[in-house]
Amino acid sequence: KKVLEVENLVFNYPDGTNALDGLSLSIEKGKKIAILGANGAGKSTLFLHLNGILKPKQGNIKFRGKKISYKKKELQNLRKNIGIVFQDPDMQLFSSSVFQEISFGPLNLGLSEIQTRERVDEAMQIMEITDIKDKPTHLLSYGQKKRISIADILAMKPELIIFDEPTVWLDPKHSKEILGFINQINKKGTTVILSTHDVDLAYQWADYIYIFSDGKIIGEGSSEKIFRDN
Ligand code: ADP
Ligand code: ADP
Repeated sequence: KKVLEVENLVFNYPDGTNALDGLSLSIEKGKKIAILGANGAGKSTLFLHLNGILKPKQGNIKFRGKKISYKKKELQNLRKNIGIVFQDPDMQLFSSSVFQEISFGPLNLGLSEIQTRERVDEAMQIMEITDIKDKPTHLLSYGQKKRISIADILAMKPELIIFDEPTVWLDPKHSKEILGFINQINKKGTTVILSTHDVDLAYQWADYIYIFSDGKIIGEGSSEKIFRDN
């Protein structure tokens, strides 16, 4: 079953940069997808389309088989269901305490305080940050902030989570830890997309890989297929 389909997406920035040049992909429910590509390949530009921050110049995006219309209500639904964990947690965290930070999303969705508390507790438990729930986020370590930024998204209970270069800059121990959390999230049924320029990571981790270059897909397939062919 398809969660997300991108068909022939074209996008140019105002300065003329052709960031996406007829890009198509299709994401199946429950899978672990890696998007492999060098800096400038178009990964972030694609992600900004997937939560409706950017609108395609040409092409379509379908969520659960339905074309996105960019009406306000539909955009809200899209942002609830497609969560993005950004590379730099400081771009995502802005509340005073960890608990408040993770509460922001569910409260914003209109959930009650009780429902919100349940969601926040669950997300903190999964990310193993319950012990720091009352700490101010700005005083925490990078590793802790990274976990909070993931808990933030988990509390929205999205169907699909995109991790934008989740292991970049991390030492092997912390990379492994973050990948462990991502796998755990996937096992509970959430579809996960991870972008990376680490070929070994994509090969070892993903069910299916897309290789991006210059705003296009230049290769795709199961890990075995990709590395047999390239
Ligand atoms: P990636 O995430 O794979 O590094 P990006 O989507 O950030 O790639 O970039 C794709 C292309 O678009 C690159 O050529 C980049 O320089 C360009 N680009 C990204 N953001 C902007 C912007 N705001 N204005 C103009 N060009 C941009
Ligand atoms: P912990 O959360 O276990 O105390 P740290 O936050 O000190 O660990 O470090 C976690 C990982 O993040 C390490 O690999 C470290 O090199 C990396 N790191 C720390 N600060 C930054 C930063 N500002 N940007 C990117 N990576 C960082």
